[in-house]
Amino acid sequence: MTGPRWRGGDVADGVSCVLADNAGPLTLTGTNTWLLAAPGASRCVVVDPGPDDVTHLGAVTQAAEDHDWTVEGVLITHGHADHSRGAPAFAAMTGAPTRAADPAHCVGSQPLRDGDELELAGLAIGVVATPGHTADSVSFVVDSLGLIVAGDTVLGTGTSFVAHPEGRLSDYLTSLTRLADLAGSGLDLLLPGHGPVVDDAVSVLRFYRAHRDERLEQVRRAVAAGAGSAQEVLDAVYGELPGEVRAAALASTLAQLAYLDETS
Ligand SMILES: [Zn+2]
Repeated sequence: MTGPRWRGGDVADGVSCVLADNAGPLTLTGTNTWLLAAPGASRCVVVDPGPDDVTHLGAVTQAAEDHDWTVEGVLITHGHADHSRGAPAFAAMTGAPTRAADPAHCVGSQPLRDGDELELAGLAIGVVATPGHTADSVSFVVDSLGLIVAGDTVLGTGTSFVAHPEGRLSDYLTSLTRLADLAGSGLDLLLPGHGPVVDDAVSVLRFYRAHRDERLEQVRRAVAAGAGSAQEVLDAVYGELPGEVRAAALASTLAQLAYLDETS
């Protein structure tokens, strides 16, 4: 990563991030909890309360207070624990309803569906299903702020992975195309689940797509060269990796092999 380490904080008028203290090989600098509000609004919406960490959840309510916002609602991009597990405690702290695509993560509200138009914190928020990283991944489009909240579909540095078996590569590729089309309509800012803000969303989404195509080609070649198991393909394509990253790369490899199977 170039530049100063990402620490969250205010990104733009009505856009703020509190970073969870869970940095790691897959969570990068930690999970981003986003607070969004229309300029001048007295309420905000919180996207991804983060892990079940009292200190972090307290920092999120403090950030809302610092901006003179009350929390009107909570949205979850996907059910991975580092984004969602703090949701019940955060709902208890704020009394705000929580919505996610997966009913299991909703508190006092209905699940989100593709195409939903939400009115929260003075903002019109579009819900876009972006499965792939997980089956329940959604992104949020806020035209008035010129941004997309992408969860783990796109990360601030490096590339994301497709969880297996709950995510599917064919879905992920479709989701990248869908986000690129949306970003192309003037939404330059992309708020990722981890790492710094992306301010050239279209080119990053194009890079993601090219990266996936390149990896698929490498997997195809490894299989053609005789790699028989997912582990062998993984070794051929990714080489040596530390434990946690290797597990994610193995999930992506299985997703890629499943995709080649489906499309052959
Ligand atoms: Zn995730």
